[in-house]
Amino acid sequence: MISLPRRLAAPEPGWTTETDVVIVGSGIAGLTTALHIARHSQLRITLVTKDILAAGSTPWAQGGIAAALGAGDSPEEHFTDTIVAGAGVCDEAAVRVLVREGPAAVRELAQIGARFDRAGDGSLSLTREGGHHRDRIAHAGGDATGAEVERALVTRVLDATDVEVIEHALVLDLLTTPAGEVAGLTLHVMGEGARDGVGAVHARAVVLATGGIGQVYASSTNPSVSTGDGVAAALRAGAVVRDLEFVQFHPTVTWLGARSRGQQPLVSEAVRGEGAFLVDDSGTRFMQGVHELADLAPRDVVAKAIVRRMRERDEENMWLDARAFGEEKWRVRFPTILASLRGHGIDPVRELIPVVPACHFASGGVRTDLSGETSLPGLFACGETACTGVHGANRLASNSLLEGLVFGHRIADAIVRRLGDPQAPPVPGAPVATGPLLDDALRPRLQQLMSEHVGVLREAKGLAAAAEGLADLVAAADGQADLVAAADGPSAPSAAPAPATENWEATNLLTVASALVLAAQRREETRGSHWREDFPDRDDNAWRGHLNITLDESGSPLSTFERDFSGPITPLKGGKR
Ligand SMILES: Cc1cc2nc3c(=O)[nH]c(=O)nc-3n(C[C@H](O)[C@H](O)[C@H](O)COP(=O)(O)OP(=O)(O)OC[C@H]3O[C@@H](n4cnc5c(N)ncnc54)[C@H](O)[C@@H]3O)c2cc1C
Repeated sequence: MISLPRRLAAPEPGWTTETDVVIVGSGIAGLTTALHIARHSQLRITLVTKDILAAGSTPWAQGGIAAALGAGDSPEEHFTDTIVAGAGVCDEAAVRVLVREGPAAVRELAQIGARFDRAGDGSLSLTREGGHHRDRIAHAGGDATGAEVERALVTRVLDATDVEVIEHALVLDLLTTPAGEVAGLTLHVMGEGARDGVGAVHARAVVLATGGIGQVYASSTNPSVSTGDGVAAALRAGAVVRDLEFVQFHPTVTWLGARSRGQQPLVSEAVRGEGAFLVDDSGTRFMQGVHELADLAPRDVVAKAIVRRMRERDEENMWLDARAFGEEKWRVRFPTILASLRGHGIDPVRELIPVVPACHFASGGVRTDLSGETSLPGLFACGETACTGVHGANRLASNSLLEGLVFGHRIADAIVRRLGDPQAPPVPGAPVATGPLLDDALRPRLQQLMSEHVGVLREAKGLAAAAEGLADLVAAADGQADLVAAADGPSAPSAAPAPATENWEATNLLTVASALVLAAQRREETRGSHWREDFPDRDDNAWRGHLNITLDESGSPLSTFERDFSGPITPLKGGKR
């Protein structure tokens, strides 16, 4: 049994401040929550973010936001597509909330200033992506939806007088009362003056909106800030984390060679939505006959088909053919992707685009209810950090921006209702002991283990190798093995890693990876984005439910299976399929 830290090693807080609500993260989830609390209450809001405001995944989103906004579309049809993509483990009540409240939330986003692309008659211009049976993806700037949404929300939040924004503030751990309620957090601010270094924010509610976990893998579409800090902090504080094994690998990430590491350029599904298709090295369209939606099948289906074909043909990548668009369509509809591809020496107007699947989205996260509250009173989670249950085993394209938007509103409503007027926050209890940090020099080793053994294809032997490799990293953090010296050749034993940003992040990655591998080992079936080669079938009798992960007192990850599906999938009233 491995032992992960229950608190990150860090200097004791040198300063303390008080607020009503502290929100961690400045993507669509954090900004929406902050804005709506500010609009509907007098509560004091502190929004902290570890880099500049626009550093998360949100500004990278290309395709758009899904909602039943088009003529002839309905929340019922969006519900059915979401449930089908989720492969039997979506929380149906959460999906109902998403699809019913989605259209109004997107319209409101447009009202507060997000400039979505529009048709000649002024109506929203809608496109289609994998798994959707309707054109229902609203987009902006062609393929720059996330950047426009982030711009609009940041502008409004900076205008809101009750929101204090602290950039370059890395949240470390949650604070709790002796009764187990959340009472604030500790953070490290790279600032100047009174708020520099490690401090504490005492608060009556905390919202974790720290985004995804993509940096757990060697290559991902996620930016460098996506190190799973919120999931790791929630685990350390005792919260339940759910569905972590369901990591979505985006099928069409630009292949830049076997040595390329870190954030990789995405080619949005909307490119296939507009008519591009996949071919192998012989020019064969291999998605035809695999699924009724062919190149627009749900992401797990396309990613698996690509990996299968790569194996059959012994190739390192497959190809996307979008040459039929011509220069003009590429320039108007996908200017960002065009610039990115040309920047890497690929001209999609004349050439095939080399693609492979890469880690893209965490369907699981910190378990929440329909108000976004976690298993710890006063702790909320929103956006990619949360597991609301809307994605099940596989997220439907463009449902994640929508999730941050819809549940950001709900969390704001719950907090405003619960907290009422500004008041003094509770006093945190004595903190638990700290644990050792992982040296950031070992991050590439962790990422390599995860990419090699816990990627699109998984099986018991590889998962055991990953678990063993992670246990070695835990031992290295404990000082029982010197893997850094071993990696660099003979040298003197290295000192314990300093409490610093990169080592805190590496330790968070180790915590998240350990929980993810445990869940992937336990789920002995193939479902959605979790593909076990040794258990190739979906097994509803044994596995239709969720794997919950917690850390015990000593920091060992524990898994519990929660079966909560007894009947068939129920369509929304009036559902057509
Ligand atoms: C390339 C790409 C394309 C995508 N395209 C689409 C799309 O078209 N449609 C769609 O619906 N989804 C898309 N997604 C997914 C979607 O963008 C994300 O799921 C969504 O933006 C997540 O929003 P968020 O607010 O939860 O997190 P993020 O936007 O990632 O924000 C997280 C925030 O938390 C901060 N943070 C992290 N850790 C800490 C810490 N310890 N302390 C303080 N702050 C911290 C970060 O700096 C950041 O500000 C895409 C993702 C990527 C990467």
